[in-house]
Amino acid sequence: MQYHIDTIPVWDALKLGGECPLCALRRKIELADVERCLGGSVMEPDTRVRVNEKGYCQRHHMLIFMQQNKLGHALMTHTHLQETEKKAQKIFAQAAQGAQAGADAPLTKRLMKKDGSREALKEAADQLDKLTGSCILCESINENMQRYAYTMLYLYGKEASFRKAFEESKGVCLKDAALLLRMAGEALDVKKQADFAATLQKLMEENLSRVEKDLEWFTLKFDYRNADKPWNNSRDALERAVTKLRGWCVGAEPNPKD
Ligand SMILES: [Zn+2]
Ligand SMILES: [Zn+2]
Repeated sequence: MQYHIDTIPVWDALKLGGECPLCALRRKIELADVERCLGGSVMEPDTRVRVNEKGYCQRHHMLIFMQQNKLGHALMTHTHLQETEKKAQKIFAQAAQGAQAGADAPLTKRLMKKDGSREALKEAADQLDKLTGSCILCESINENMQRYAYTMLYLYGKEASFRKAFEESKGVCLKDAALLLRMAGEALDVKKQADFAATLQKLMEENLSRVEKDLEWFTLKFDYRNADKPWNNSRDALERAVTKLRGWCVGAEPNPKD
């Protein structure tokens, strides 16, 4: 796959010096996307069709709701609901018919649990999961993150200064380490893949251990005997530990305010 190389945002994110530059990039895209989806693009037919079809996940409904534009949010939700209603009705009708056919099946089939009822209900549940599992913001963010991961590896492979800065950084979170490892096969030749995997191993070892020690000291600071001792780097250790484990979601915004 061809990715558009976008080096400046990746360099900027690395220079922030946080626990994960890719989390900082993801957050930036997310905030811009949430704002945009209530802005002008909401009226563009293309976007409308996609919103109507896919909708938003819980997290993104929450973020859109927090924008305090209830009318905009309601208009999008209304058309998505109309489209979803039709699909859901079809699924529930199939479930009801399948279960009824099972109930009407001959006794021997029912006793052997071969009446097909369970399968029909499970199929309906799977289809509902699919219907409620799509999000156009998640899709857009993931596409952008593929591109940023590719760019990061591209820079790692081509620019010595970036490689050095990455090696001296705090690394990435576990979630984005997976993103990079998966992308490395596409973005780097086999020698550089080995080089990158070794660098990542070293970075993860050092930085998970650092955050773990900070978090331990954070918990020990609750002991009254440590009350007067310095916090060192532990005041935000919980937030940083969560970031390392699952990607940024709590604590100070990873990007500075413009
Ligand atoms: Zn991350
Ligand atoms: Zn989402």
